[in-house]
Amino acid sequence: MFTDRRVLKRLDKMLDDGINGTFEESDYDETRLSKLEFKWLRYLTSSKLSAQKTEQDRERLKELVSDISHQTKTPLANILLYTQLLQEQSLDEQCLHLAEEIQKQSEKLEFLIQSLVKTSRLETGTFQLSPKENDVNDIIESVIGQIASRADSKHIQILYAPEHYVAKYDSKWTQEALFNIIDNAVKYSPERTAITVMAKSFEMFVCIAVSDNGAGIAENELPSIFGRFYRGKNVREYSGVGIGLYLSRQIIEGQGGYITVESTEGKGSVFKMFIPR
Ligand code: ADP
Repeated sequence: MFTDRRVLKRLDKMLDDGINGTFEESDYDETRLSKLEFKWLRYLTSSKLSAQKTEQDRERLKELVSDISHQTKTPLANILLYTQLLQEQSLDEQCLHLAEEIQKQSEKLEFLIQSLVKTSRLETGTFQLSPKENDVNDIIESVIGQIASRADSKHIQILYAPEHYVAKYDSKWTQEALFNIIDNAVKYSPERTAITVMAKSFEMFVCIAVSDNGAGIAENELPSIFGRFYRGKNVREYSGVGIGLYLSRQIIEGQGGYITVESTEGKGSVFKMFIPR
């Protein structure tokens, strides 16, 4: 009975150490352990090793992504520079068209690499989201300002009546999440239509809703649009790589919020970002 209690106490301590991450195999003398304690010891040792390996893999992935981004920066900047120089030469129409295509594809590649780096940094926790209390009006006005000229070129009106609600969010990243949603609304709407942005406060969340009268999304595609690199079947003529909504969702869920979408194909969509108060 006395021995049983001692064994139980040791098992209890092993488990506590395992839970707290303070477990050290060297704290226990294997020759003095019962069969059950010995099994516990093996189990906790192997789970500690596997946690260490996961951490090492994560570190390696971070380094790899940072190397890719660093090493591709200069060649890509050079390709863009040479393409610009090429376009300044007296080229015939066909060559000029080819040079423009090289420029477009290089810009797309640059955007893709930057998006992958952001995604990976958010996933591996290299970029910390730091939510602070802010008026949502700040990011809404800033994003509308950034998109205004693109909307103007399609004669699209962005309607917004300023509302002042305070929520807890990381200003830089949440702005990026909202930018992706309003940018899509402009991209997937026909000319001379309107987009409405509205803010509303609920008990737990502040909601920013973006409604458009654009292409809409087929019901069977709705579950896929937040997936990485997913692009709608009917949007191939528009530029894009299918990462915007994925990033937006990562950013908002990373702060304890969520995004919803309602859409009717051919009529329009409503994206709602719920940010914790
Ligand atoms: P991208 O716009 O680069 O394709 P996103 O991740 O931003 O990538 O969007 C994924 C897909 O969701 C788009 O390809 C498109 O099919 C659909 N989508 C997103 N926003 C809208 C919108 N406002 N109207 C219609 N379709 C949209």
